[in-house]
Amino acid sequence: MELLEQRIRKDGIVKEGNVLKVDGFLNHQMDVSLLKAMAEQWRADFAGKPINKILTIEASGIGIAAIAGLVFDVPVLFAKKSKSINIDGSVYCSRVHSFTHKVDSDVIVSKKFLDANDHVFIIDDFMANGCAMNGLIEICEGAGATVEGIGIAIEKGYQGGGDALRERGFVVDSLAIVESMDAETGEIEFR
Ligand code: 5GP
Repeated sequence: MELLEQRIRKDGIVKEGNVLKVDGFLNHQMDVSLLKAMAEQWRADFAGKPINKILTIEASGIGIAAIAGLVFDVPVLFAKKSKSINIDGSVYCSRVHSFTHKVDSDVIVSKKFLDANDHVFIIDDFMANGCAMNGLIEICEGAGATVEGIGIAIEKGYQGGGDALRERGFVVDSLAIVESMDAETGEIEFR
Protein backbone atom coordinates (compact mmCIF):
# COMPACT_ATOMS: atom_id res chain seq x y z
CA MET A 1 0.00 0.00 0.00
CA GLU A 2 1.71 3.09 -1.35
CA LEU A 3 0.41 5.46 1.34
CA LEU A 4 1.79 3.31 4.16
CA GLU A 5 5.14 2.74 2.44
CA GLN A 6 5.53 6.50 1.93
CA ARG A 7 4.78 7.14 5.58
CA ILE A 8 7.26 4.49 6.73
CA ARG A 9 9.93 6.08 4.49
CA LYS A 10 9.13 9.51 5.92
CA ASP A 11 8.66 8.76 9.62
CA GLY A 12 9.92 5.22 10.27
CA ILE A 13 13.20 4.85 12.13
CA VAL A 14 15.36 1.75 11.73
CA LYS A 15 16.82 0.68 15.07
CA GLU A 16 19.52 -1.82 15.90
CA GLY A 17 18.25 -5.35 16.53
CA ASN A 18 15.93 -5.48 13.53
CA VAL A 19 13.37 -3.10 14.96
CA LEU A 20 11.49 -0.58 12.88
CA LYS A 21 10.06 2.21 15.00
CA VAL A 22 6.80 3.65 13.73
CA ASP A 23 5.53 5.07 16.99
CA GLY A 24 4.85 8.50 15.50
CA PHE A 25 1.91 7.24 13.43
CA LEU A 26 1.09 3.57 14.03
CA ASN A 27 1.50 2.14 17.49
CA HIS A 28 2.04 4.90 20.03
CA GLN A 29 0.76 8.14 18.53
CA MET A 30 -1.73 7.00 15.87
CA ASP A 31 -2.66 8.68 12.60
CA VAL A 32 -6.27 7.53 12.53
CA SER A 33 -6.82 8.70 8.94
CA LEU A 34 -4.01 6.39 7.88
CA LEU A 35 -5.45 3.57 10.03
CA LYS A 36 -8.84 4.10 8.36
CA ALA A 37 -7.27 3.93 4.88
CA MET A 38 -5.50 0.71 5.89
CA ALA A 39 -8.75 -0.80 7.17
CA GLU A 40 -10.51 0.14 3.93
CA GLN A 41 -7.78 -1.62 1.96
CA TRP A 42 -8.28 -4.78 4.03
CA ARG A 43 -12.04 -4.55 3.64
CA ALA A 44 -11.64 -4.34 -0.15
CA ASP A 45 -9.14 -7.22 -0.17
CA PHE A 46 -11.48 -9.44 1.89
CA ALA A 47 -14.74 -8.38 0.25
CA GLY A 48 -17.18 -11.27 0.19
CA LYS A 49 -15.59 -13.13 3.12
CA PRO A 50 -18.01 -13.80 5.97
CA ILE A 51 -15.89 -12.01 8.59
CA ASN A 52 -17.85 -11.41 11.79
CA LYS A 53 -15.03 -10.67 14.24
CA ILE A 54 -11.61 -9.07 14.38
CA LEU A 55 -8.97 -10.51 16.71
CA THR A 56 -5.71 -8.87 17.73
CA ILE A 57 -3.21 -8.97 20.59
CA GLU A 58 -2.49 -6.33 23.19
CA ALA A 59 -1.15 -3.81 23.15
CA SER A 60 0.00 -2.37 19.86
CA GLY A 61 -2.55 -4.12 17.63
CA ILE A 62 -5.55 -2.69 19.44
CA GLY A 63 -5.70 0.79 17.89
CA ILE A 64 -5.39 -0.57 14.35
CA ALA A 65 -7.93 -3.30 15.02
CA ALA A 66 -10.43 -0.89 16.59
CA ILE A 67 -10.50 1.33 13.50
CA ALA A 68 -10.78 -1.80 11.33
CA GLY A 69 -13.71 -2.90 13.50
CA LEU A 70 -15.51 0.34 12.64
CA VAL A 71 -14.84 -0.09 8.92
CA PHE A 72 -15.84 -3.81 8.89
CA ASP A 73 -18.69 -3.11 11.33
CA VAL A 74 -17.79 -6.10 13.52
CA PRO A 75 -16.70 -6.50 17.16
CA VAL A 76 -13.01 -6.34 17.99
CA LEU A 77 -11.51 -8.82 20.43
CA PHE A 78 -7.99 -8.65 21.77
CA ALA A 79 -5.96 -11.41 23.38
CA LYS A 80 -4.76 -10.29 26.81
CA LYS A 81 -1.38 -10.96 28.27
CA SER A 82 -2.13 -12.76 31.51
CA LYS A 83 -0.25 -13.98 34.55
CA SER A 84 -3.10 -16.04 35.93
CA ILE A 85 -3.57 -19.54 34.56
CA ASN A 86 -6.69 -21.07 33.14
CA ILE A 87 -7.87 -22.79 36.33
CA ASP A 88 -11.59 -22.94 35.55
CA GLY A 89 -11.20 -23.57 31.80
CA SER A 90 -12.99 -20.34 30.89
CA VAL A 91 -10.32 -19.03 28.54
CA TYR A 92 -8.39 -20.11 25.45
CA CYS A 93 -4.69 -19.74 26.10
CA SER A 94 -1.52 -19.67 24.04
CA ARG A 95 2.12 -18.99 24.86
CA VAL A 96 3.69 -16.23 22.78
CA HIS A 97 7.30 -15.10 22.58
CA SER A 98 7.57 -11.32 22.36
CA PHE A 99 9.91 -10.15 19.61
CA THR A 100 10.33 -6.70 21.16
CA HIS A 101 10.52 -7.66 24.86
CA LYS A 102 12.26 -11.05 24.43
CA VAL A 103 10.02 -12.76 26.99
CA ASP A 104 7.34 -15.43 26.75
CA SER A 105 3.87 -14.64 27.98
CA ASP A 106 0.56 -16.42 28.10
CA VAL A 107 -2.17 -14.72 26.13
CA ILE A 108 -5.80 -15.46 26.79
CA VAL A 109 -9.20 -14.93 25.22
CA SER A 110 -12.41 -15.58 27.10
CA LYS A 111 -14.47 -18.49 25.75
CA LYS A 112 -17.48 -16.15 26.03
CA PHE A 113 -16.29 -14.17 23.02
CA LEU A 114 -15.02 -16.74 20.51
CA ASP A 115 -16.54 -19.98 19.27
CA ALA A 116 -17.00 -22.27 16.26
CA ASN A 117 -19.49 -19.88 14.65
CA ASP A 118 -16.88 -17.15 14.31
CA HIS A 119 -15.16 -16.17 11.06
CA VAL A 120 -12.17 -14.22 12.20
CA PHE A 121 -9.91 -11.62 10.61
CA ILE A 122 -6.69 -11.43 12.65
CA ILE A 123 -4.83 -8.11 12.69
CA ASP A 124 -1.49 -6.94 14.09
CA ASP A 125 0.86 -4.02 13.61
CA PHE A 126 3.94 -6.11 12.73
CA MET A 127 4.87 -9.57 11.61
CA ALA A 128 8.44 -10.70 12.22
CA ASN A 129 8.92 -14.40 13.00
CA GLY A 130 5.19 -15.02 13.30
CA CYS A 131 5.04 -15.95 17.00
CA ALA A 132 2.24 -13.53 17.86
CA MET A 133 0.22 -14.68 14.85
CA ASN A 134 0.78 -18.36 15.61
CA GLY A 135 -0.54 -17.74 19.13
CA LEU A 136 -3.69 -16.08 17.81
CA ILE A 137 -4.22 -18.84 15.23
CA GLU A 138 -3.85 -21.44 18.01
CA ILE A 139 -6.52 -19.63 20.01
CA CYS A 140 -8.88 -19.63 17.00
CA GLU A 141 -8.20 -23.33 16.43
CA GLY A 142 -8.95 -24.03 20.09
CA ALA A 143 -12.29 -22.27 19.67
CA GLY A 144 -13.06 -24.06 16.39
CA ALA A 145 -13.32 -20.63 14.73
CA THR A 146 -12.43 -20.10 11.06
CA VAL A 147 -9.48 -17.83 10.27
CA GLU A 148 -10.64 -15.95 7.16
CA GLY A 149 -7.44 -13.98 6.84
CA ILE A 150 -4.56 -12.19 8.48
CA GLY A 151 -4.03 -8.45 8.11
CA ILE A 152 -0.63 -7.06 8.97
CA ALA A 153 0.36 -3.41 8.74
CA ILE A 154 4.10 -4.04 8.33
CA GLU A 155 5.63 -7.43 7.60
CA LYS A 156 9.37 -7.79 7.78
CA GLY A 157 9.49 -10.25 4.89
CA TYR A 158 13.06 -11.36 5.45
CA GLN A 159 12.17 -12.73 8.90
CA GLY A 160 9.97 -15.39 7.33
CA GLY A 161 6.91 -15.45 9.60
CA GLY A 162 4.53 -14.30 6.86
CA ASP A 163 5.77 -16.70 4.20
CA ALA A 164 5.60 -19.66 6.62
CA LEU A 165 1.94 -18.85 7.26
CA ARG A 166 1.26 -18.49 3.51
CA GLU A 167 2.80 -21.93 3.01
CA ARG A 168 0.36 -23.28 5.59
CA GLY A 169 -2.47 -21.89 3.45
CA PHE A 170 -3.36 -18.73 5.35
CA VAL A 171 -4.18 -15.58 3.42
CA VAL A 172 -1.71 -13.03 4.80
CA ASP A 173 -2.43 -9.48 3.62
CA SER A 174 0.48 -7.28 4.65
CA LEU A 175 0.07 -3.67 3.60
CA ALA A 176 3.82 -3.05 3.52
CA ILE A 177 6.47 -5.75 3.28
CA VAL A 178 9.97 -4.68 4.24
CA GLU A 179 12.54 -6.68 2.30
CA SER A 180 15.57 -5.16 3.98
CA MET A 181 16.43 -2.33 6.32
CA ASP A 182 19.69 -0.86 7.53
CA ALA A 183 20.09 0.74 10.94
CA GLU A 184 23.27 2.56 9.87
CA THR A 185 21.97 4.27 6.73
CA GLY A 186 18.29 4.23 7.71
CA GLU A 187 17.47 2.77 4.30
CA ILE A 188 14.35 0.64 3.91
CA GLU A 189 13.51 -1.49 0.85
CA PHE A 190 10.05 -2.86 0.23
CA ARG A 191 9.06 -6.07 -1.56
P1 5GP B 1 6.58 -11.90 15.73
O1 5GP B 1 5.73 -12.48 16.80
O2 5GP B 1 5.97 -12.03 14.36
O3 5GP B 1 8.01 -12.36 15.77
O4 5GP B 1 6.65 -10.33 16.03
C1 5GP B 1 5.47 -9.57 15.93
C2 5GP B 1 5.21 -8.78 17.17
O5 5GP B 1 6.40 -8.18 17.66
C3 5GP B 1 4.21 -7.68 16.91
O6 5GP B 1 3.12 -7.85 17.78
C4 5GP B 1 4.95 -6.38 17.19
O7 5GP B 1 4.33 -5.72 18.26
C5 5GP B 1 6.36 -6.77 17.57
N1 5GP B 1 7.35 -6.39 16.54
C6 5GP B 1 8.06 -7.23 15.74
N2 5GP B 1 8.92 -6.57 14.99
C7 5GP B 1 8.75 -5.26 15.27
C8 5GP B 1 9.39 -4.06 14.79
O8 5GP B 1 10.28 -4.06 13.93
N3 5GP B 1 8.94 -2.89 15.32
C9 5GP B 1 7.97 -2.84 16.26
N4 5GP B 1 7.60 -1.63 16.71
N5 5GP B 1 7.36 -3.95 16.75
C10 5GP B 1 7.75 -5.15 16.26
